[in-house]
Amino acid sequence: MKIGILAVQGAFAEHEAALDALHLPYKEIRCKRDLQQSFDGIILPGGESTVQGKLLHELQLFAPMRQWIANGMPILATCAGMILLAQTIEEQDTAYFATIPITVRRNAYGRQLGSFHTECECRGIGKIPMTFIRAPYVTQVREGVSILSTVEGHIVAVQYQKQIALSFHPELDHDYRLHQAFLELCRQ
Ligand code: GLN
Repeated sequence: MKIGILAVQGAFAEHEAALDALHLPYKEIRCKRDLQQSFDGIILPGGESTVQGKLLHELQLFAPMRQWIANGMPILATCAGMILLAQTIEEQDTAYFATIPITVRRNAYGRQLGSFHTECECRGIGKIPMTFIRAPYVTQVREGVSILSTVEGHIVAVQYQKQIALSFHPELDHDYRLHQAFLELCRQ
């Protein structure tokens, strides 16, 4: 099994550490040539969605990756990655991959005091640590989206087909159960 990790900007190294801990091989996706290999699943890390979106286009990664995702590639997306997958982004005219029918609010907890840590239930997994960093949350889900977790009334984890999108960063807490759930989707 081989996982691709989008490595154009943001917190991709932390996901690499997670896969190292799980003894799973991965390859970084940095340029178009990296898409010549085949992947069983892709991780979209946290970072800055506007920068990632711009780089995806500039590096000509956007169209082929969107095609893969639309065709059912398993995806684990954290934070900015969730924004890249959302069909609708509040107060923004355009979206990015737009492959999950949800609406997200960027920097939903505020820009300055936006980082916090909690523990909460995640469907099918149990109580997990959750670190939020200038995180988005989901303000609307549409048909076919399962809600995996809500924190204080806000949706922070969803699954749509084989795409898992999280507001928080499990890779920072060294709790890899969500990575394992994603790897299970990749094996199917
Ligand atoms: N605030 C960032 C954005 O809007 C996301 C933050 C993160 O990925 N930790 O893209």
